[in-house]
Amino acid sequence: MADYKDKYEMVIGLEVHAQLKTNTKIFASDGCEFGHKPNSQTSAVTLGLPGVLPVLNKHCVDMAILTGLALNSNIAKKCKFDRKQYFYPDLPKGYQISQYDEPICQGGWVEISNKKIGITRAHLEEDAGKLVHAGSSGIYGSSYSLVDLNRAGTPLLEIVSEPDMRSSQEAREYVENLRNILRYINVCDGNLEEGSMRADCNISIRHFGQKEFGTRAEIKNINSFKALVRAIEYEFIRQAEIVEEGGEVVQETRLWDDNLGATSSMRGKEDAHDYRYFPEPDLMPLEVSAEWIEKIKSQMPELPAQKLERYKSIGLSEYDASVLVNQMEMALYYDELLKSGVDPKTASNFLMGEVAAYLKEEKISINDSKLTVSNFAKLLELLKKGTISNNIAKSLIIDILKTGEDADSLVEKKGLSVISDESSILPIVQKIIQSNPEQVAAYKGGKDKLFGFFVGQAMKETKGRANPQMLNKLIKQELDK
Ligand code: ADP
Ligand code: MG
Repeated sequence: MADYKDKYEMVIGLEVHAQLKTNTKIFASDGCEFGHKPNSQTSAVTLGLPGVLPVLNKHCVDMAILTGLALNSNIAKKCKFDRKQYFYPDLPKGYQISQYDEPICQGGWVEISNKKIGITRAHLEEDAGKLVHAGSSGIYGSSYSLVDLNRAGTPLLEIVSEPDMRSSQEAREYVENLRNILRYINVCDGNLEEGSMRADCNISIRHFGQKEFGTRAEIKNINSFKALVRAIEYEFIRQAEIVEEGGEVVQETRLWDDNLGATSSMRGKEDAHDYRYFPEPDLMPLEVSAEWIEKIKSQMPELPAQKLERYKSIGLSEYDASVLVNQMEMALYYDELLKSGVDPKTASNFLMGEVAAYLKEEKISINDSKLTVSNFAKLLELLKKGTISNNIAKSLIIDILKTGEDADSLVEKKGLSVISDESSILPIVQKIIQSNPEQVAAYKGGKDKLFGFFVGQAMKETKGRANPQMLNKLIKQELDK
């Protein structure tokens, strides 16, 4: 295996289908929400009944423009829709409305850690319906499939990359970064498992130093990042073995089977001419004015890469910053927290430490927890002012996550504020020294480490509330007497 990687280079290009977050379909007014009764979201247009006409959903175009701008693409001033013909039972019209030679977004790139991955194009199209393979458990005991057309006509943006990736890791990072961008600009929820983001992976191999690309296989049905990496690694070896044995890789579409951990041939890959593309006669060409693009540009939120830089500039480590940015809900919450003037580093430590651990345990998101931004900020303020200790703050935040109780009243009620007056701490220190003569003797005999013992005892006595600086000072003072 290792020698295959020494001998052959893999070449990967990805086609990512992103389901756009619209209320209605791309060419019809029926809804496209997931999880409805089969065939309940199917207008005459979706069913492809004779005489119906598609009407383009402007919101989809807005989202395509926004995505194009985020991917550094050129937005075409003029583009058109085309019919892509093929026969399949989940495609009622017998063709899919897509964009062929004049896509809305052209060129661009997505940055990954060591390089830029080129974007060839991004185009708008409609999704097909879904076949439910009911197997052999049907009423007549025979095999059959059911057709659910709810998904038909759901808006998709197909984002095609250049064959610029050279390892499964690069492919993974590309999809992760692309997904992040789509989520931050709020055009797609990026859920691979539910299929609202789907990645088809094209992979070929070639000898190192060879200029031409090898013949690619296209792998479909990849529904997690783990599957993406496994499918690529599997496919690399499969192709390398074919070449080693003097064979030739054939251009085809293959399906990834997550249980088997293998790809298998699904069908020979069609070439574009097989689809008999021609311009969609029922839709006007789409003209996108400079004003339209400017308007969308002005709505562009902060992109993940910019957020990462900003977090680093306010004192977060590269690692912390990227962990936050990769969890969008957390990052957006953190941004709200920052607005209340909290210390960035302390806030991120709490968020990624105690809070994240609790959320993971409870399997909920930050927005579903009872920890409001303002209450969190209050707690951090109490810590900053020295009213409560760090350890107390850590345990309080768990209480608040559970109950949503107000930080101030919780500290008051539980009597948790730091004890900072000498007259309260001194008697405690004196009592501890008096009741531990052996430790005192050992300390005075040179066992410096025992200092921590006295601190520990005093903290135990005060339930962690003693002001640490004051406590250290008093213990030293009393021991040195
Ligand atoms: P199709 O619709 O036929 O799959 P596209 O142009 O939409 O064609 O997508 C082709 C994808 O395959 C692109 O992501 C491209 O980067 C990638 N690709 C093309 N040639 C190769 C190759 N030899 N090896 C790996 N990937 C390739
Ligand atoms: Mg394609």
